Amino acid sequence: MRLSAYFLPTLKETPAEAQIASHRLMLRAGMIRQSSDGIYSWLPLGFRVLKRIETIVRRELDIAGCQEVLMPTIQPAELWRESGRYEDYGKEMLRIRDRHDRDLLYGPTNEEQITDIFRASVKSYRELPRNLYHIQWKFRDEVRPRFGVMRGREFLMKDAYSFDVDFAGAKRSYNRMFVAYLRIFARMGLKAIPMQADTGPIGGDLSHEFVILADTGESAVYCHRALIEFDVLSAGIDYDADLEPIVAQWTQHYAVTDDKHDPDACPVDPDDLVTARGIEVGHIFYFGTKYSKPMNAVVTTAEGETVPVEQGSYGIGVSRLVGAIIEASHDDAGIIWPDAVAPFAVALINLKPGDAATEAACEDLYAKLRAAGVEVLYDDTTERAGVKFATADLIGLPWQLTVGPRGLAKGIVELKRRATGERDELSAEAALARLTA
Ligand code: ATP
Ligand code: MG
Repeated sequence: MRLSAYFLPTLKETPAEAQIASHRLMLRAGMIRQSSDGIYSWLPLGFRVLKRIETIVRRELDIAGCQEVLMPTIQPAELWRESGRYEDYGKEMLRIRDRHDRDLLYGPTNEEQITDIFRASVKSYRELPRNLYHIQWKFRDEVRPRFGVMRGREFLMKDAYSFDVDFAGAKRSYNRMFVAYLRIFARMGLKAIPMQADTGPIGGDLSHEFVILADTGESAVYCHRALIEFDVLSAGIDYDADLEPIVAQWTQHYAVTDDKHDPDACPVDPDDLVTARGIEVGHIFYFGTKYSKPMNAVVTTAEGETVPVEQGSYGIGVSRLVGAIIEASHDDAGIIWPDAVAPFAVALINLKPGDAATEAACEDLYAKLRAAGVEVLYDDTTERAGVKFATADLIGLPWQLTVGPRGLAKGIVELKRRATGERDELSAEAALARLTA
């Protein structure tokens, strides 16, 4: 993509309304634009990151045996009356009435809807387990929308729902998602720590919030140092195997958010206790028959009994993750995208547009990188070099490849790694080899 043709409305000034780095940087880098309180449009650069995150989520969930569907954003109130949540949900739910005076709502989540889909067709334990997910916009009329996409009113969520015939099956489904979540966040370059969360009236310990550590996190978190050091991706994964040992490796250590932390009862040696702030990026939850009972979603067991199906739900804040990743990875100059979610891999910077040799070298690199499948944002504008470097640092692409007449005279270009600031002077061929490796 040529920057001269790209819709990238960057801002020089720091927007006054933005309180945290990710919000400031997303506005300054032209990724989003506020439409109304807590509701945003995604501009080309931001939209690319959102799609990257979706792809990572999708890939891992598909490997874990989940199947993607797409449910609507607008749901009928009747379904929520069946579960009893229409009255309970309160002011966060956006209620709508259509021209025929039917009550509708903009879904804040989809348990009722998926349970309705399930009960219409699945009748037997033979068709289980199942895990269906979608990636869809949600609306919650938050009291205090803030921090940009981190706490929006309209936001993109991946929500998955598991169905099993009994508790043992439900626990297996839960474990699968537990492990899938660890891998999904690790693939994005994030260290997400599963923390014990409240299960409400159902009890048990089958609810975890996945939290990444960042100074601007909304809640204080406490965990054993060991959890920070675990490596998630080095070993392969077989989702059909017994995943309990992997889950146990994580859950054996203390990790809680502040509402569950009791300093007097904390079992961790103070030297091993990490106290930090955290951002919730995912939440997994086993809730048994909470919806299947009132909504009569039943299956027959191998013994011929009829039982309500055992369910769990599993959310990931896809749009929140864009902000969360920036919170975890930026510096004073701008964003530092982890490779896996970067909107483009390379910023190709032409220091002297109009200079024939520089132009030719840039065009050649641009064509060859694209031919090799590397996504490049080519700064072919007539801005000053300083402005180009500032823009490149601000939008945070992993590599900056700079081409100018002085270097070319010596047969070199400059390759800078955004994350470390390391610069190498090398031939255009060597730079290409590095970027296409
Ligand atoms: P929170 O405690 O942050 O309000 P929640 O517990 O209400 O979130 P869940 O119902 O668990 O949220 O939703 C699943 C995921 O969706 C969360 O882990 C979070 O990443 C994301 N999410 C929830 N609310 C918002 C929001 N207002 N804006 C952006 N993302 C959100
Ligand atoms: Mg939650």
